[in-house]
Amino acid sequence: RPPDAGPSSLDGGGIPSEGSSSTLPVQDTQSESFLSKIMADNPYFSAGAGLMGIGVALTALRRASTLGTTFAQRRLLVTLEIPSKDRSYPWFLEWMAAHAPQPGSGKGKGRMGFTSHELAVETSYKQHEGGSGEAIFNLVPGPGTHYFKYGGAWFQVKRERDAKLMDLHSGSPWETLTLTTLSRDRGLFPQLLAEARELAEQSTEGKTVVYTAWGVEWRPFGKPRRRREMGSVVLAKGAAERVEEDLKGFLGRAKWYAERGIPYRRGYLLHGPPGSGKTSFIQALAGAVGYNICLLNLAERGLTDDKLNHLLGLVPERSFVLLEDVDSAFSRRVQTTEDGYKSSVTFSGLLNALDGVASSEERIIFMTTNHVSRLDPALIRPGRVDVHELLGDAAPEQARRLFVKFYGRSGFNDVQSGEKEPEPETDDIQRMGDEVEQILEEEASQGRSVSMASLQGLFIRSGAEEAVESVRGLCTSRTSPE
Ligand code: ADP
Repeated sequence: RPPDAGPSSLDGGGIPSEGSSSTLPVQDTQSESFLSKIMADNPYFSAGAGLMGIGVALTALRRASTLGTTFAQRRLLVTLEIPSKDRSYPWFLEWMAAHAPQPGSGKGKGRMGFTSHELAVETSYKQHEGGSGEAIFNLVPGPGTHYFKYGGAWFQVKRERDAKLMDLHSGSPWETLTLTTLSRDRGLFPQLLAEARELAEQSTEGKTVVYTAWGVEWRPFGKPRRRREMGSVVLAKGAAERVEEDLKGFLGRAKWYAERGIPYRRGYLLHGPPGSGKTSFIQALAGAVGYNICLLNLAERGLTDDKLNHLLGLVPERSFVLLEDVDSAFSRRVQTTEDGYKSSVTFSGLLNALDGVASSEERIIFMTTNHVSRLDPALIRPGRVDVHELLGDAAPEQARRLFVKFYGRSGFNDVQSGEKEPEPETDDIQRMGDEVEQILEEEASQGRSVSMASLQGLFIRSGAEEAVESVRGLCTSRTSPE
């Protein structure tokens, strides 16, 4: 821009300096010659012109530096934006929490050299095995700008909160993290994110995350739980093995399905009376193959066919979908609750969602029901449900195994014995286990049985001998098992 044109109001970039503020926008040659004439004649104006010159030069300089900075930002810096919707957002926050200055670390600098003055607290609660808890305060960089060093490069991280936009489902404000670094260090971004992901996975390693539906997305429900041991669920002979083998066989056959163009899906139905271990077994199975669980309640308020379809399409990787008590969702649908609410998932909506658009993504659905006879055959036909397994009341032999597990030396190590009498010898436990089996066989011949959950309850609260004595009293007659 020619310096004689002076700063115009269109400049935008540069703030007019004092010198230039006195100048008029000089546009046409006529006024220019008029001005220059006056200025040449008048010493004050000459001084003014000098000032103007400085002002113009300053403005130009300032603009050049702004342009230079923008240029440098464009050419030399790279930025990475992580919106709060993205999956790596919580991972990165967690990573920041792990590297930010923590209370008691003294110097106010984390391992990575975080420099922050605006911190936010994220409290997590750690439950110990014995039941006691401990609150852990993690200081994460709060909204604002922070710097940290990673892999020998400096990074700027801007955590911005949008005051106007709210995530309607969680009620938390929308946030964006913007990471900036020098262009030449751009290769560190993937490394950084991979590290953040690894860290996040480490904290759930050996644990099962239970997700529940939050509006149209899956959110972890509570903290990841310790995996349930397969051995802690005692099923009738062969049942657990059948399902586990089928599942493991399925998991190894992604390619087989893809080659044949078959949707890579498997459905399991566990049916049987309440307290037979359906849910516990699914938890243990998830733990055994290192999967998480997406729990979906079909009778849930506000769940519509569309949302259901959407949710089933968005299941986090390595997760089972668990539809509990599938029968009740539809018998309840007919009734309305006191406030006139009706569940709005329709049966055909469920079938559609289960069949979905053919996608190559793997999907494993578990359904449980206490009343298999109430289920519409369409729901459990092959393709929707591939494996049916009945988990019934305690079979006599199953009761014996649970008994030995509880009281025997090689049983659970972590069962709290409370006020139980000292443990008898293992041989005695075997003998008493046989006795329990015998009692249940007699009861079964009379059409009476007991659920595994009630047996567990009895074993928790009583000693071995007392349990043998009281087990008969727990048996009830079951006219229709399902
Ligand atoms: P369901 O889903 O069939 O109603 P759950 O899995 O919720 O049953 O079991 C309820 C309780 O009973 C749990 O505490 C579980 O540990 C115990 N339980 C039920 N069945 C078994 C089993 N087969 N082996 C061990 N524990 C069982």
